[in-house]
Amino acid sequence: MRIKVAVHGYGTIGKRVADAVKHQEDMKVIGVTKTKPDYEARLAIERGYELYAATPEKIEVFKNAGISVKGTIEDLIQEADIVVDCSPKKVGAENKAKYYEKAGIKAIFQGGEKKDVAEVSFNALANYEQAIERDYVRVVSCNTTGLVRLLYIINQNFGVNKVRATLIRRVVDPKDDKKGLVNNIMPDPITIPSHHGPDVQTVLDVDITTVAFKVPTTRMHVHSLNIELKQQAKPEDIIEALREEPRIMLVSYEDGFTSIAKIMEYAREIRTRSDLFENVIWKESIAIIDNELYLTQAIPQEAIVIPENIDAIRAMFNIASKEESMRLTNETLGIGKLYS
Ligand code: NAP
Repeated sequence: MRIKVAVHGYGTIGKRVADAVKHQEDMKVIGVTKTKPDYEARLAIERGYELYAATPEKIEVFKNAGISVKGTIEDLIQEADIVVDCSPKKVGAENKAKYYEKAGIKAIFQGGEKKDVAEVSFNALANYEQAIERDYVRVVSCNTTGLVRLLYIINQNFGVNKVRATLIRRVVDPKDDKKGLVNNIMPDPITIPSHHGPDVQTVLDVDITTVAFKVPTTRMHVHSLNIELKQQAKPEDIIEALREEPRIMLVSYEDGFTSIAKIMEYAREIRTRSDLFENVIWKESIAIIDNELYLTQAIPQEAIVIPENIDAIRAMFNIASKEESMRLTNETLGIGKLYS
């Protein structure tokens, strides 16, 4: 029997989660929600998803626009086994109180929600087992997912004393125009640490301090990390450990990956919607100085959390082990050692 998944909020994350679920044999999308009857609502229907109004009062708006919806989120929940909440930041917590708790349905939240919205903050590699048979799980944000994946591998192989990371963040996603037309660099926040370090600690027990800046690009985030190791290691050892993990993509500057523009160009060649699900790490950036690892990685913000949502569903229904779930997700989404 396939798990019936409702995707509440068919935006940047929601449409990618829906498409990823579509690729799985043990789950299926039974409906997606929108508040606006715009081109994305029409696209959802064209792609074969049943469309529902994200809030009951929006039914009329869809009717007036000539878009037929099957009902409201409340109707959708009646049919579903789990909701993947992909609504805007902070709306997920409201939805939990308004709908999910009342209906007694399992829900996955995204990284825009505070950690206390769920029983577990989740990353498949680091703590899959903690999500087993839980009712509420939060898949951590794109930046946190990128940091946790990397630090988990480094910690498992070499031990980590402390981490200092600088995050250079894309200001908005490619589709957003609300904050566009700017030319600026903003320390965000100006105080230290940024929320990313404490967010990593909701999943991994590491000493980490983060500083973050926003820059006027929509393409990717970039992280510059210094990681003090417990054990001695050479750059080749680090590369070997990273190569073992399919959700890490190692690229080479020498090979033409001179900037995130080139990484995105490569993504356009190999993936539907240019979705990269992997941390992208430049091999040449890996250096060890006084037992401190230096490394630069690019984080594809729109897609990196998608495999984690799929794995969280399997963990919450306890239908696969960590290894089996990650293998299935990787296989179906084409995640592997594309370039290493
Ligand atoms: P988004 O592109 O703005 O999409 C949000 C979706 O939610 C839209 O489809 C919107 O529908 C719908 N929506 C609006 N109001 C709603 C409501 N009251 N109830 C239910 N749905 C509602 O946002 P996003 O970037 O996908 O972000 C979703 C979550 O993922 C956030 O927690 C965010 O922090 C997290 N996240 C985002 C990224 C990223 O890079 N984008 C990465 C990792 C995690 P309409 O368009 O019809 O209004």
